[in-house]
Amino acid sequence: MDRASIRRLYEEYLPLIEESIRSWRMIYYKEKGSRRSSKEGAGSRLGKEYIYGTVRPFFERLSPDDSRYIRTHRMIVFGMMEHSPSLKAVVLKASGRKLAKLLLREGIVKSLDDLPMVFMVQRIGLLDIIDESLNTMKVNIYECMSCFGMKPVFTPMCDFEAGIIEGILEGLYGRNATVEKNCWGLGNHFCGFEVYFK
Ligand SMILES: [Zn+2]
Repeated sequence: MDRASIRRLYEEYLPLIEESIRSWRMIYYKEKGSRRSSKEGAGSRLGKEYIYGTVRPFFERLSPDDSRYIRTHRMIVFGMMEHSPSLKAVVLKASGRKLAKLLLREGIVKSLDDLPMVFMVQRIGLLDIIDESLNTMKVNIYECMSCFGMKPVFTPMCDFEAGIIEGILEGLYGRNATVEKNCWGLGNHFCGFEVYFK
């Protein structure tokens, strides 16, 4: 898909995207004040429900095969988690950074405005830029393919997504560390990333 057709698809769905983001933001505002810190079950393994029956409200409207698409992606994450959670984090973040480089090189991402477009069209999630300042940035993802709807395992799950954000922002603005602070895996109902520029 070239940039123009990606942009067309994104714009076609823009009203629905904005409506979805507005309602997810309400949940974000409610939760951001109260940090969930329960360590109960820390390090618990992913259950079968991680793979089956994930229905993402926005993406299901976009495409009725969404839960099958999610299952394929999650099978890979599941397998990596079983093998080695730390290796999974490193490999998926590196893969996300690789995808970011490709999107920049192909000219699909040219500015920060293109980030929500790519996340939606690639069905990664609904990306919402919350805050931008000189040295830091806050980015949320709603209905994230890696964690939406899962039971908490007390570890953040979205290394692939963090890698894409980190890689794209590195290409656009410079070196940074992108860290996932909120996640369904941590008991939240959104993913919250903090970006620290170096
Ligand atoms: Zn997450």
